[in-house]
Amino acid sequence: MLEKKDFKKQSQKVIDWIDSFYKELKSLPVKSQVKPKEIYNLIPSEIPTEGESLDVILKDTTDIILPGITHWQHPNFHAYFPANSSIESLFAEMITTALGAQCMIWETSPAAAELEERMMEWMRDAMGLPSSWEGVIQDTASTATLCAIISARERTTNFTSNEEGVPPNLRIYCSTQTHSSIEKGVVIAGIGRKNLIKIGVDEQQRLSPTLLKEQIEKDIENQLKPCCVIVALGTTSTVAIDELTEISSICQQHNIWLHIDAAYAGTALFLPEYRWMMDGGEQADSFVFNPHKWLFTNFDCTAYYVKDATHLIKTFEILPEYLKTKTRGLVNDYRDWGVPLGRRFRALKLWFVMRSYGLKGIQQKLRKHIELNKYLSDKIKKHPKLELVQEPFLNFTCLRYIGDNNQTLDMLNQNNEHIIEVINKSGKAFLSHTVVNGKYVIRVVIGQTYVEQEDVEDLYACLIEHLPNN
Ligand SMILES: *Cc1c(COP(=O)(O)O)cnc(C)c1O
Repeated sequence: MLEKKDFKKQSQKVIDWIDSFYKELKSLPVKSQVKPKEIYNLIPSEIPTEGESLDVILKDTTDIILPGITHWQHPNFHAYFPANSSIESLFAEMITTALGAQCMIWETSPAAAELEERMMEWMRDAMGLPSSWEGVIQDTASTATLCAIISARERTTNFTSNEEGVPPNLRIYCSTQTHSSIEKGVVIAGIGRKNLIKIGVDEQQRLSPTLLKEQIEKDIENQLKPCCVIVALGTTSTVAIDELTEISSICQQHNIWLHIDAAYAGTALFLPEYRWMMDGGEQADSFVFNPHKWLFTNFDCTAYYVKDATHLIKTFEILPEYLKTKTRGLVNDYRDWGVPLGRRFRALKLWFVMRSYGLKGIQQKLRKHIELNKYLSDKIKKHPKLELVQEPFLNFTCLRYIGDNNQTLDMLNQNNEHIIEVINKSGKAFLSHTVVNGKYVIRVVIGQTYVEQEDVEDLYACLIEHLPNN
């Protein structure tokens, strides 16, 4: 058991551990290679009776835990979307943990509430989002989208669902490409999976405004109640950007809540050259993006914005006697802005990152990732046995092996699946896949904070090395 007086001396060991982890990271397998229950079986079945030393615990962290970690901070982690981190974010988390504040209301740490308010303004303004929007930090985009769906439900039912239960005729719309968190949110909100209508997409995997309009009109005719439309700026499968102008005007015409899920690609709004993604989105009711994906701020940290915070607060407000305060109404009590009562002090890491990088530093880093992606996709484009399945966008490339062009779709699909499998097994890189129009394709996202060109060269070499018959 450590005492406070031991802190300085003992902490050096932890810092050294992290330092050597950072130094060795590139040589570790990106995707953990362990078998199910391998780690579990290495951990004693009972709590130790006597306390153990930090040295022993750190050694076991190296020997037992590290092999079971998939290294999201490895520069050749290219699967899913990144969850990147930075030294600044790590330092802030250390201080957050030292402070150990539980930030449910303003009084339980005024600095946490007020820094959060400022950080949400900094990001809103740096991203060119409407200046009247207000924001709150949530744990994940899934939770933020759940909040959007529940707020939409309350607004559509004149705030009666919280009291009386959910009417059975509410309808939620999204495209066939939107994230699974929407279906989960609809289910949790009590709206029912059958009332989530997935609208078809165009060639570029974008929600079709025409099909949406038809569906909404048909539903209204059938006495159903359109409640919320959820669009994606950057779908999970192929980073498709739903076109907002027409969808937004349909929503306004029928007074439907419009929620924008920009979980991953939203970060690109820090770059003026990508602001077009939000064209038509100014009238949206809510918007979510994840600094914990591509803004060098470690998981978890989600930014949720709303056009009118009163809807959010009216939906989630609670006021038991023991939480009544004199400052109510003068300050933001964020427990009323989401699901949990207790809240972590997440604004501090955003503050550390945004101050240390500055807007310029953030933009440089994002542009660097985008350029590295272009560098990779140019190489792929030139390779006779590979093809780009769609134009590379942001730091995302979607490709597949085509061989000599004489194989059936099934054979190619199997080949591509096999390529990913062997690369992931090699430990050199971690890739994931998606299916686009029946084609099994390889997704590559280049988004680890400290990724360099040589890492991308390593990835390309690894890819070529693992092509069939090569
Ligand atoms: C990652 C992602 C989510 C889910 O994010 P969490 O923060 O893990 O809940 C939702 N939507 C999109 C488009 C995403 O890319």
